Amino acid sequence: MAIEKLPPQLANQIAAGEVVERPASVIKELVENSLDAGATRIDIEIEKGGAKLIRIRDNGSGIPKEDLCLALSRHATSKVKSLDDLEAILSFGFRGEALASISSVSRLILTSRTADQTEAWQAHAEGSEMAVKVLPAAHPVGSTVEAVDLFFNTPARRRFLKSDKTEFTHIDEWLKRIALARRDIHFTLKNNGKTVRNYRPANTEAQYVQRLGSVCGKAFAETCLRIECEHNDLKLSGYLQSPNAADGYSDTQYFYVNGRLVKDRLVNHAVRQAFAQFAEGISPGYVLMLELDPHQVDVNVHPAKHEVRFHQSRYVHDFILQALQSAMSQSTQVLPSTDNE
Ligand code: ADP
Ligand code: MG
Repeated sequence: MAIEKLPPQLANQIAAGEVVERPASVIKELVENSLDAGATRIDIEIEKGGAKLIRIRDNGSGIPKEDLCLALSRHATSKVKSLDDLEAILSFGFRGEALASISSVSRLILTSRTADQTEAWQAHAEGSEMAVKVLPAAHPVGSTVEAVDLFFNTPARRRFLKSDKTEFTHIDEWLKRIALARRDIHFTLKNNGKTVRNYRPANTEAQYVQRLGSVCGKAFAETCLRIECEHNDLKLSGYLQSPNAADGYSDTQYFYVNGRLVKDRLVNHAVRQAFAQFAEGISPGYVLMLELDPHQVDVNVHPAKHEVRFHQSRYVHDFILQALQSAMSQSTQVLPSTDNE
């Protein structure tokens, strides 16, 4: 076969395979865009597990009318200008692929208004018709993105969707993770017309512990240890299950690097090692936030950005281990005295 350049639509659909796996991944990309736009309130609405409708509304900066079409095209981003920017990334987005990918596999409507515009504008893009129309609309400052009929034009992908309930569970689980990371944001989730989650902004520690309780369960929130540790340019904060608890909380393991949830074996290893001296073999629960110089970590390892690479991984591992060990030994200092009674 002769070599030919892929038509842009097909190229987008192929790229969509990497970012848009299921409704939860659409929501992840859209909510991260809202966060990057500085939103403080994000309302999520889904119908039929997200397959019928996903609607994300935010009160962020909005997109200027003249950029609406550009935002939908591939490799268009306002977040990275040079390779230098990529070396120290703090925004969630930077690949400029999400909106292009989502619009290539759904009917997408983007409505937006910036603070200096008197009216809002709306762009429509639909599957194979990348032709985007822009029409006036009513909307407060901020953006709403609607993705309707996900995978309507890629039947093979559509068949891979699980039941509405399963897709809802994926969405709900993802929302929990982001709600733990972004205590300052008011998130709501409406499923088939009914509000099922309402995470109000947590401005105080007590309010955050309440959010922790609704996400991780009351038992965890009421007994966990508070972690707060800083060393040079590393900062670790969050919560660790109490070493006195009888069981692990293996489904409560959340680790964030500069606000981004990642799966990292290094951390799992450090937590288990810290725990081993108190309770061997249990898989402890934790919600830990690591902050470090963004130059010290590479986030562009995986298209969905689930993984990161630390430049000094040993150093990071040992810092986490020590932070946890010292928190645990302080918390268990009271134990020997009760034994003596
Ligand atoms: P990326 O997030 O990697 O830049 P996206 O395709 O997700 O790529 O978004 C493209 C661009 O559209 C963003 O860089 C941003 O400028 C704009 N954008 C997308 N969603 C929003 C939003 N909710 N509010 C403001 N701007 C947005
Ligand atoms: Mg994005």
